[in-house]
Parts: sequence; structure tokens; C-alpha cells
Amino acid sequence: MKIDHLGIATKGIDEALRFWEDALGLENVHTETVEDQKVRVAMLPIGESRVELLEPTSDDSPISNFLAKRGGGIHHIAVEVDDIEAALAKLKSQGMRLIDESPRIGAEGCLVAFVHPAASGGVLLELVQKQTV
Ligand code: ZN
Repeated sequence: MKIDHLGIATKGIDEALRFWEDALGLENVHTETVEDQKVRVAMLPIGESRVELLEPTSDDSPISNFLAKRGGGIHHIAVEVDDIEAALAKLKSQGMRLIDESPRIGAEGCLVAFVHPAASGGVLLELVQKQTV
């Protein structure tokens, strides 16, 4: 396993890039809107991982809720797994609470599923399986 990305909630990606890109020196290599999750994302590689900036595209986006409650900041950690179905089945068999019982399509066409923070002691965890096309 490796950390695929750190998801960071922002009110606006363009403004956030003034820090992450212009000031810190990372490079935004990919921007897309993930309709399913009502977010626009920007991906900035850092070592073998990425920073994923998240901006809500509607008031009922999960990111809107997070921003309202906590302001911006780290929203989730994403780990890459080889077999997301197997990872979900294992977590479920151990009684861990899941947000997604089955994978959804996330950014870059990856399969993704979120594990409830109650399972991990307060960290929203995203499982990511790269599509092997
Ligand atoms: Zn993510």
C-alpha cells in the first residue's frame, strides 16, 4: 500500500493554488469535476503521492458540509489498494463501518470507496484502485 493522495478541502481551488503552486512550488497537473461527489479536484504530485485540492460544486456537496463545520483543511487520506472489493470485504468482515459498501468511480476514472471515520479513530479514509486499462 501507499498513500495515493491527501484530500484537502478548499473554498476555491484557484485561490488555494496561490499557496500550493505559486508559493510552495508544487505543480497542478490535472483538474477535473467529479459529478458523483459534487467536487472539482486539482491534483498536485508530491513525491510518490499527490495533494488533491477539493472544491465543492454545489451547496449539498460533502465538501460544503466540511467547510461549513470546520473551514478548510485535511479532509481525507487516500490509500491505494490492488483489489478494492477485497479490501472492502475484509474491513466489513472485521465489523468496520463503511460509507461506501461498493466502489464508485472517482477522479481519473479510479475505483474509490470511503471508510467511515468511526472505523479509523477519526480519519476519513478513501480506498483507491487504479483502473488497469
Ligand atoms: Zn480523494
